[in-house]
Amino acid sequence: MILLTGGTGYIGSHIAVELLDAGHQVVILDNLSNSVCTVVDRIKTISQKEVEFYKGDVRDAALLGVIFKAHNIKAVIHCAGLKAVGESVSNPLAYYDANVYGSISLCKAMEQAGVKRLIFSSSATVYGHEAEPPYMETMARGSASSPYGASKAMIEKVLEDLSSSDPQWSFSILRYFNPIGAHPSGYIGESPQGIPNNLMPYISQVAAGVLPELLIYGNDYPTDDGTCVRDYLHVVDLAVGHRMALQTLEQPGVHYYNLGAGKGVSVQEMVDAFILATGVDVPYRFAPRRKGDLAAFWASSEKAERELGWRTRKSLVDMMVDTWRWQQFTSSENS
Ligand code: NAD
Ligand code: UDP
Repeated sequence: MILLTGGTGYIGSHIAVELLDAGHQVVILDNLSNSVCTVVDRIKTISQKEVEFYKGDVRDAALLGVIFKAHNIKAVIHCAGLKAVGESVSNPLAYYDANVYGSISLCKAMEQAGVKRLIFSSSATVYGHEAEPPYMETMARGSASSPYGASKAMIEKVLEDLSSSDPQWSFSILRYFNPIGAHPSGYIGESPQGIPNNLMPYISQVAAGVLPELLIYGNDYPTDDGTCVRDYLHVVDLAVGHRMALQTLEQPGVHYYNLGAGKGVSVQEMVDAFILATGVDVPYRFAPRRKGDLAAFWASSEKAERELGWRTRKSLVDMMVDTWRWQQFTSSENS
């Protein structure tokens, strides 16, 4: 049995399906602060399997005690947390509380239950502003550009210190690059609250007519076409990476893996690829740079390939088509 925190969220729901498909049993803990409980039914529909769900907070020690007592949990995948970079700047305490304190609370409960295997959702942001792409796991963490980024770096440090204090722990720290796309069934995907901050949901909402136009932030970057470059990967590939990372928990210590496609794609290329793959227009115009954006970064994905046997399989077309299917499903649900 695997405890999956944040399992009704965007990435967690895809991990749940991937684990269930592979024959694992899954318990989800989520406080539904950024997701809805109908996702549990959708996970069941897609996988045709049962899944246990607890509505609650990772900071609730009593609830964690109940969960570890009720289920024979072998490992935890910890996706629960707050993730909006801008919001973390205006409300840092909420971010340190949910992310850092939430992770500490979870580790305390795990220690009490004698469960010492954890996969943690980290981010490429921990490499900081100074790093030169491709980012490699051997690079030191850089200076964080937001409280969100700092919270991820702090949690990584907490896990390292815990491992040093007790060598029975095993941690797999997965540094995600830019997950996009949705499950090919069209039943689960990303549901940003309000106006999206991220590129892909913004593109799909413009295509659906929910938003009037896309602003491309900056076309004067030192990149081939002047727009920013990121490493986009399909969320289903990302979920597969978690299943494959479970094997690393057999070895005590702290294991780090970049989960990215290993190549960069520009904002302009993303918009063009969406229009080409779906045949739907996306009106856009160029706007000034967005504060805090890096010109270009992408992963070295060699370590994950070498040690986990993982690499991305899905194409940019898959990412676009699956995003659009999900957008249409959401639009039909809301109409
Ligand atoms: P999400 O918001 O869709 O999912 C997170 C889930 O955690 C939500 O369902 C939310 O309700 C739940 N949650 C939040 N705080 C909680 C708490 N205190 N207790 C219990 N549940 C709580 O986000 P996501 O995109 O699925 O991201 C999952 C994880 O991956 C996060 O930790 C995020 O920081 C990390 N990450 C995401 C990205 C990305 O681009 N989406 C990139 C790098 C890292
Ligand atoms: N971006 C954009 N318009 C938007 C949203 C994002 O031009 O409405 C750009 C943004 O400047 C960045 C890229 O798209 O260069 C990816 O942004 P996102 O927020 O999705 O990911 P992150 O910057 O956190 O890697």
